[in-house]
Amino acid sequence: MTAYNLGFPRMGLRRELKTALEAHWSGQADEAALLATAAELRARHWALQRAVGIAVPPSNDFALYDHVLDHACAFGVIPEGYGWRPGEPVSLATRFALARGARGTAGERAAGIAPGAPALEMTKWFDTNYHYLVPVFRPDQAFIATGFPAVDAFEEAKALGYPTRPVLLGPVSFLLLGKMAGGAGDPLALLPGLLPLYAETLRRLAAAGAREVQMDEPCLSLDLQPAARTALRAAYLVLAGAAPRLSLMLAAYFGDLRENLETALGLPVAGLHLDLVRAPRMLDLALRQAPPRMMLSLGVVDGRNVWATDLSRAFQQVRAAAAARRFELLQVAPSCSLLHSPVDLAGETGLDPELRGWMAFARQKLEEVAILARGLTAGRGAIAAELAASDARQEARRRSPRLHDPAVAERLAAGRAEDAARVPFAERRMAQQTRLRLPGFPTTTIGSFPQTAEIRAARAARKRGEVTEAAYHAFLTERMAEAIRWQEEIGLDVLVHGEFERNDMVEHFADFLTGFAVTKSGWVQSYGSRCVKPPVIFGDVSRPGPMTVEWARRAQALTERPMKGMLTGPVTMLQWSFVRDDIPRAAVRRQLAYAIRDEVTDLEAAGIPIVQIDEPAFREGLPLRRDEWDAYLTDAVHCFRISASGVRPETQIHTHMCYSEFNDIMDRIAQMDADVISIETARSRMELLAAFVDFAYPNEIGPGVYDIHAPRVPEAAEMERLLRIAAQRVPAERIWVNPDCGLKTRRWEEVRPALQRMVEAARTLRG
Ligand code: GLN
Ligand code: ZN
Repeated sequence: MTAYNLGFPRMGLRRELKTALEAHWSGQADEAALLATAAELRARHWALQRAVGIAVPPSNDFALYDHVLDHACAFGVIPEGYGWRPGEPVSLATRFALARGARGTAGERAAGIAPGAPALEMTKWFDTNYHYLVPVFRPDQAFIATGFPAVDAFEEAKALGYPTRPVLLGPVSFLLLGKMAGGAGDPLALLPGLLPLYAETLRRLAAAGAREVQMDEPCLSLDLQPAARTALRAAYLVLAGAAPRLSLMLAAYFGDLRENLETALGLPVAGLHLDLVRAPRMLDLALRQAPPRMMLSLGVVDGRNVWATDLSRAFQQVRAAAAARRFELLQVAPSCSLLHSPVDLAGETGLDPELRGWMAFARQKLEEVAILARGLTAGRGAIAAELAASDARQEARRRSPRLHDPAVAERLAAGRAEDAARVPFAERRMAQQTRLRLPGFPTTTIGSFPQTAEIRAARAARKRGEVTEAAYHAFLTERMAEAIRWQEEIGLDVLVHGEFERNDMVEHFADFLTGFAVTKSGWVQSYGSRCVKPPVIFGDVSRPGPMTVEWARRAQALTERPMKGMLTGPVTMLQWSFVRDDIPRAAVRRQLAYAIRDEVTDLEAAGIPIVQIDEPAFREGLPLRRDEWDAYLTDAVHCFRISASGVRPETQIHTHMCYSEFNDIMDRIAQMDADVISIETARSRMELLAAFVDFAYPNEIGPGVYDIHAPRVPEAAEMERLLRIAAQRVPAERIWVNPDCGLKTRRWEEVRPALQRMVEAARTLRG
């Protein structure tokens, strides 16, 4: 057995888990129905993995909502007010209240959940687009087993006839991913109280017949304090003694372990998994430094991207390992859990066959792992045909004329520093004031208006070919005209067209740009039941023609007020796509920057006085290691500026960022030099504004005054209060008035009164 997997996507090929969760939440399906779907998916995925050659697939990698939440629940890390009492199992109602906040349902009341109980904080899982729920530890946290889900999952698979390798989130990563209630104290101090539960879990797994357990410690890819390394040593000393017959496979992924590699190799574990896609250089070091009997798991198949593996290159790595140690001490695996991959490429019948041949989703990745493992045990000859086929594919891809566009290369080569420069803000500001003549506290929105059931139905009907392109267009035009009339009526100052024609803020643009492809079912879990379908960047990116100009021009023709054009920025386009792996990411970002720049200048030429370039994923792109931040930030800022700097001083550039910590990157936000930035501050009651105040941010700023994440409609007085807080900290003449984010997920019944009151609040402030 040499082919392994670290985790499989949970949602199902047709996102069955999403459907089942949402049916349950809306009261249309009971718990039994939800749990039955979940069990069906697990069984299907074990069978699939076994069929492609993973003899011992992972178990306990599934979660209804989030695996970190499940782990916290298993150990009783549950704040008060969610209806759980020590000594009892954790109900689904409690789990979902922790995940989504109390909904005020009868079921919740019956389960003892406080009506206002908020959701746990959610944050990104390392540098992926998966989000986990942040465990909250009390200083006197008692860890109490509420059950042993890893044992249950192992038994469930065993009953189906499948031997599995249970996955546990390791104790040090678990603690480091959480936070202390009230912010004071160090989660690592809780380790001694936590370890007995891990030990008990391992003993029970061994008793149930498990041979090995995968201990995930992704924190090994981070900058760790010495105390964390000490904690790892202490933890695994205890765990190794807990169930001596059970092999502990430590899994690290997402990056180079650097100074933590020595720590990892020194732990008393049976084996170590390494992400050799992100950090191939670790292989040599590990081969030289690993204790002679330590198992090494070679993560040579990219678990996070959609490209077929260059099998020859991967096999070289595998062979280098085989030259250094017996193959019984080696495993082949994806670089990380396949949680971050779509399920199966076979469904992508709409993709161009050549392009599809270059790609691999979870199922295909495991086939690759199995091939490499076969080569490792049976020798190169056993997989010669597969290697030859892969070589041919790689060669075809390298030579494909669709990858390289000489015009794009020329454009980038001709790029000059001036491309990223505008005249100083003070000069632009005067020109813009003269042109726009806006009142103090100008009001605007972030771009999208409600994507109603009617709009979604129209889009679906057009996709099925049931309505003509012309009829669909006329329908959208009517929605836009209505929205513009209404914005005028309530007195907004800077209008938007409403983004009714957009299904998504990245895929929409992907449709217009060269080098992009869009998949049918390339879904990846983002959080809970939410999935994203990133477009695929396979070749050089350019913009053959205008993308949004026609809508913007027609929108501006309907009103005397300034219309704001709406674009997604280069940093976010890159971050929310699957990106080609044959050239550096920064090169792709640069191509995107010039493509967006062309759109911005075309909008200007069409008479649009204000253009907003959204960059909600700006912070998301930060590397895991601090010493790589500078290179990323410098380039990201530069690309934003390229996209924004093709216009005259009197054209106003806005940018928008969603919930972000700005403190440690404030200098870069300022370097972006957008004339106006809108940020999410309503939810934090203006706390996020502090970074801008402390930095004395020089440009204009729209701190959100309306939390668009909840259906709640704020009172005018409440928004006025927030604006007054802002005006105490930022010169009033630089403040804009807007919601936290776009309104596409809200209903008109909420949006109408909320924006009316927002305008009212702005008027009061003007007075
Ligand atoms: N313009 C986009 C909208 O209004 C911005 C979305 C976002 O920031 N995520 O929907
Ligand atoms: Zn936003």
